[in-house]
Amino acid sequence: MASSPSPASPLSNVPASAASRWGRALLVLLALGGFALAVEGVGRFAEGRVVERLREEAHLALPLAGSALRAEIDRQRAVPLVLAQESTVRATLEMRLASSVAATNEKLRRLATGTRASVLYLIDANGLAVAASNFGEADSFVGSSYRFRRYFTQALEEGRAEQYALGTVSGRPGLYIAERIGTAEVPIGVVVAKVELGTVEGEWASTGRPTYVTDAEGVVLATSVPAWRFLAEREIGEGEAAAIRERLQSGEAPLSRLPVRETRTEGLLRAAPGGGAPGRFAGASQALAGGPEGWQLHLLAPADAAIRQEGALARLLAALALALAAIAGFASWRRRQREGERRAALARTAAELETRVAARTAELTQANARLQGEIAERAAAESRVLKLRDDLAQANRLATLGQITAGVAHEINQPLAAIRAYAENAGRFLERGEPRQAGANMGHVVQLTERIDTITEALRSVARRAPGRRRRMDLSEALDGALLMLASRIREAGVTLERSGVTGPLPIEADRIRLEQVLVNLLRNALDALGETPCPVITLETGAGESTVGLTIRDNGPGLAPDALERLFTPFSTTKPNGLGLGLVISQDIVSEMGGRILARNAPEGGAIFTVELRRAGP
Ligand code: ADP
Repeated sequence: MASSPSPASPLSNVPASAASRWGRALLVLLALGGFALAVEGVGRFAEGRVVERLREEAHLALPLAGSALRAEIDRQRAVPLVLAQESTVRATLEMRLASSVAATNEKLRRLATGTRASVLYLIDANGLAVAASNFGEADSFVGSSYRFRRYFTQALEEGRAEQYALGTVSGRPGLYIAERIGTAEVPIGVVVAKVELGTVEGEWASTGRPTYVTDAEGVVLATSVPAWRFLAEREIGEGEAAAIRERLQSGEAPLSRLPVRETRTEGLLRAAPGGGAPGRFAGASQALAGGPEGWQLHLLAPADAAIRQEGALARLLAALALALAAIAGFASWRRRQREGERRAALARTAAELETRVAARTAELTQANARLQGEIAERAAAESRVLKLRDDLAQANRLATLGQITAGVAHEINQPLAAIRAYAENAGRFLERGEPRQAGANMGHVVQLTERIDTITEALRSVARRAPGRRRRMDLSEALDGALLMLASRIREAGVTLERSGVTGPLPIEADRIRLEQVLVNLLRNALDALGETPCPVITLETGAGESTVGLTIRDNGPGLAPDALERLFTPFSTTKPNGLGLGLVISQDIVSEMGGRILARNAPEGGAIFTVELRRAGP
């Protein structure tokens, strides 16, 4: 058996709707998750771009920071170089004359001031400072021994030396630039310029980007972050640390690990140059060209604020764009949904309309069929009625004919017997030679045959009657016609005609000739009746009912004898000497064939009243 879809039960709907609710919630969660991921992705991307930019900026800032340092060093380098060639300086070392030493002291002081060197000093071949720019000051170098300073020994050996170290007297760090006086074989002494790089460091610090220099060992020397000085970029073991301390000639150099670490993912550096919580920096490094050997310049561009700001901005913009897209998407979805709903509603309405129209059409078709049936039935009934009426008229006529025939036999027998008697007598008169008598008899015979002829003629007019050609006409027309035919007789009889009744049309369906025949007969009867009346009057009155029209013919004659009234429409009943007694019979026959009737009565004041009643023709 084919499975047919069963209607969903209300119970089975519950889990379905719950499932769809869960599904929707899951979809919303997924969408939110996707939204967050997208926003975060855009934020990260923007942050990546910021990091790149900051790194580029740091790289671009490096040469500037380096050139400031280089300019400082280069300026100081020239001073010992020039002084080493000076004969007065040489003479001061060689002669040690108090005046010459004093002059050199003064010269060094002026030079130091002019070149912004922190200290310029002259050391003899034994390492003893002979003259210094800070002569006469409390912490003057004059008289101090620099024999064990690397820059001194190296300069003696190699002609020149540069060393970053802490000052033995001042304890302040600086770059010592030493130049030998004399030759390697006969060294006379060394002239040294100590450059404290505080100015450059200050310049670096003012940029807001921690900047520092490391030496070949990775130890921080000049730095805009004083706390980082003498910290190392890498872990340094104790042994190596001692050697480095020795080289730097700074016993306290911590040489612990510089607190600048690479972050795990972003390729940034994490450091806390100002103390407090560490921040992120984009780092850049390069060798300091033309600087002391092995020096590397490092620069840290702060990244936190830019990353935070631009990341937040990008996230905000992404969220806004996504929200806008989501709103637009939702709006378009809603619009499509509404459009769909509207179309469905339209389709439903159209379908409903179609169903209603179909139902109405079916109803109308049925009603129409019913009406057709009723019309057919009515037509059939009408034709049945017509047929019945025809049958009735025919039966009536036949009955009349029967009566007439019976009458004829009786009416004709008498004249026939008389004719026979007259003829026999005429024969006898002829035998007797009385032709005159015979002729008189034959005259009677002729009269009698005329009588018979009249009877048979009337009879024929009934029997021969063809169905009349009816047409729509006015009853007055027939009346006028009949009066015209009888006009001379009416005039001769001196009868007054009075006409009254309705003035409007009296429409009927009738055969005019036959109707006139009826009216002539009725009027003639009235005239007959008025033969002995002193002031003969015939009153004609027309009338109209809803379905009938009528004409009343009234005379002021003797009226209908009671006997005559009873047998009025019976053939051969006549009170007139020459009457046939067929006129009313034939008239009744004609009128009834038209669907009407003739009524007769006596007027209370005397006289007879005949009324012809006919069916009123439709509009
Ligand atoms: P007929 O005129 O040949 O006698 P009808 O059938 O016309 O035959 O009339 C029948 C009889 O009805 C008449 O003989 C007469 O007695 C009576 N009758 C008819 N019309 C009138 C009338 N207006 N007044 C008195 N009697 C009438």
